[in-house]
Amino acid sequence: MAGLSVQLKAPNGREYTQPIGLFINNEFVASKSGAKIASINPTDESEITSVYAAGAEDVDLAVKAARKALKDPSWKDLPPTERGYLMNKLADLVEKHQETLATIETWDNGKPYSVALAEDLGEVISTLRYYAGWADKVYGQTISTTSAKFAYTLRQPIGVVGQIIPWNYPLGMAAWKLGPALACGNTIVLKAAEQTPLSILYLATLIKEAGFPAGVINILNGHGREAGSALVQHPGVDKVAFTGSTATGREIMKLAAASLKNITLETGGKSPLVVFEDADLDQAAKWAHIGIMSNQGQICTATSRILVHDSIYDQFVAQFKEVVLSTSKVGDPFSDDTFQGPQVTKAQYERVLSYIESGKSEGATLVTGGEPYKNVGDGKGFFIAPTVFKNVKDNMRIYREEVFGPFVVIASFGTEEEAVTKANDTTYGLGAAVFTKDIERAHRVAAEIESGMVWINSSNDSDFRIPFGGVKQSGIGRELGEAGLEAYTQVKSVHINMGTKL
Ligand code: ADP
Repeated sequence: MAGLSVQLKAPNGREYTQPIGLFINNEFVASKSGAKIASINPTDESEITSVYAAGAEDVDLAVKAARKALKDPSWKDLPPTERGYLMNKLADLVEKHQETLATIETWDNGKPYSVALAEDLGEVISTLRYYAGWADKVYGQTISTTSAKFAYTLRQPIGVVGQIIPWNYPLGMAAWKLGPALACGNTIVLKAAEQTPLSILYLATLIKEAGFPAGVINILNGHGREAGSALVQHPGVDKVAFTGSTATGREIMKLAAASLKNITLETGGKSPLVVFEDADLDQAAKWAHIGIMSNQGQICTATSRILVHDSIYDQFVAQFKEVVLSTSKVGDPFSDDTFQGPQVTKAQYERVLSYIESGKSEGATLVTGGEPYKNVGDGKGFFIAPTVFKNVKDNMRIYREEVFGPFVVIASFGTEEEAVTKANDTTYGLGAAVFTKDIERAHRVAAEIESGMVWINSSNDSDFRIPFGGVKQSGIGRELGEAGLEAYTQVKSVHINMGTKL
């Protein structure tokens, strides 16, 4: 692997071999053009290393490898149970290497190491194991019609799937996509986000070690507009699964339309968290904090619009501010007591700061934060003080647009009807949280809110066994749970004639 890997020592002292090539046909290779992407440590803005970036020619090679693997007996004829064993083997290897993977994730993305290890890696391992269990449980039906005829259905893989993932949960999003696609027998070309290209390449080494046949899983780094768009448009790709912003999702849908490709999209959100007057305010404030401030606020389901009943508005704002100030410790993501690390890139950092300016100029009232946070190390890095605005009006940009940072707006409502109307007054529909002790109201509001997921007296729960996805402009299709398999199989009907002769 000369020139295709580098020895690195992470800020926590962990040393490891970082692959930097494109992973095609179970081998790391350089990109045809030699182009590279630099990976920046968001904590101090230094360059960690650079990795090869795919262009259209490289995408073509990866897709051809995946197409060949689809017909290769070592994959096509592998009994589904053994496919599951392979996936479990990969999960075991991820578990064995979890400290290294979490280290890379924290270094490259900026998320706290404790979170990367316990939550992200925990999720990768459990998602792979969950879908490994499904591999031999995906089957069709027998359907009776007349005494002479019946039909059975086969649930067959879709074929070659192109998977495009974002930078907020690099390994987590990879597992959400690899798990069901592999369980259903597809082959894959996965493109990671250019902001976080490192951990996925280390995962690639484990894919090979687990024993997946060459070409079944191909992993590329590359720019969205180049490698991503080449993947979406490639005639050899049967399906595209994407997680990222709504604007990019729209672009991908347009590109996929040319060949009518099957698509699954998981896009943006501006999820409401509704606090009724009878809620346990202490719990509501704590969950509201988790719902927006976890992962530096870089979560598509973040409950970024808090709606509070007039009668408890001031009290809630005071309690919420207290939780933010006491819990959101901003700092070095490798320190044990850090809750919030840096934003992933300078571009994201500047984007959040521009929304802070917008909130101030539109006349919302700043409760806390509202500026860069400079007290980490020597003052470099993309840190932002957790920011809360109150007295936010429906027409303000900070109320309507997804910010994707440690940034939340708090508005008020008077009646349940108004709460539901406000919650639904958005082009998005990913998640929604409802705080009340009245169980009838809880379920009534849960049914009325236009979103793919609702959390009652909680926020941002996500579980590999439970379907995840959005309505409206938050997405198409579902990931996770049994529902996640639908995206990766197609149903073929086989009609049987047992006797009727013409
Ligand atoms: P961001 O959250 O930074 O706006 P995006 O939604 O643009 O992220 O990116 C998510 C993923 O989509 C990344 O892997 C990115 O490279 C990819 N991507 C961006 N633009 C395109 C495109 N036009 N076609 C295909 N993939 C794209």
